[in-house]
Amino acid sequence: MGGDHIAASGPTPGTEPSVRLADLTWQEFAACVAAGSLTVILPVGATEQHGPHLPLSTDVVLPVAVAEGVARAIGGLVAPAIPYGYKSQPKSGGGNHFPGTLSLDGATLVAVVRDVVNELARHGVRRIVLLDGHMENQWFLTEAADLAQRDQRREGVRDLRIVKLGYWSFIDPATLASLFEGGPFTWELEHAAVMETSVMLHLRPDLVRTDRVPDNPPAAFPHYDVYPFDTRPIPPDGALSSPARAAAAKGARVLDQVVPAIAAALAEAFNSPGDLVSKERQAEETR
Ligand SMILES: [Zn+2]
Repeated sequence: MGGDHIAASGPTPGTEPSVRLADLTWQEFAACVAAGSLTVILPVGATEQHGPHLPLSTDVVLPVAVAEGVARAIGGLVAPAIPYGYKSQPKSGGGNHFPGTLSLDGATLVAVVRDVVNELARHGVRRIVLLDGHMENQWFLTEAADLAQRDQRREGVRDLRIVKLGYWSFIDPATLASLFEGGPFTWELEHAAVMETSVMLHLRPDLVRTDRVPDNPPAAFPHYDVYPFDTRPIPPDGALSSPARAAAAKGARVLDQVVPAIAAALAEAFNSPGDLVSKERQAEETR
């Protein structure tokens, strides 16, 4: 610490309050919970190779940006992101063997997400979004949501609702057409390719090695998986299809379209009626 005295408290006048949960004090967080209907978004990413041109943090940077946009739109908060994900798979992430890809066992990821959800619930949060930034996480997030729901019902909490989503599912046909210029694509092979590269060019151009953007044909994988991996079908540079047509303007368009779409979906999901668990199962679990 230097010799400067502490300035007047609170954010600088005229600036928007932070949507990052961890930027708040405990009292500010408590006030957000007490105000009611608080939504907390937990981005779950990965530290994973993204070709020769994108950083290992790509699957964290993108969902955090989406989460912060959505939180600003709905008056919610973004919890600190989980920067590790389930093991990179050859057909969706190039595989776990690339240097710098740091992955969790499935049970570890489930345990971490379940604990964070339970902690948010313990402090009174009843609307939680698991915002996935890495396709391999998806069923582990489902499992964590299911187990946390069971934990909370046993605690007598009946009104916790958890929404799980992958932001890429919200990219609409018009945006897809502009991203891929009408050409074919598959989400599995969109690893370190046009979408992720475009959004990174928009958000963090300083992290994109524009002189190293590859232009490889899409990977061709067999309809089975073999363990240990057969690495031969995996493009050696780690991009599963070509990012050559990526552009910052395309990335901006993705965020501009996806953020309000997710905000609208959350309004629907959190306000939909319905007891999602049968009375029999509730009775069984609370016995
Ligand atoms: Zn990715």
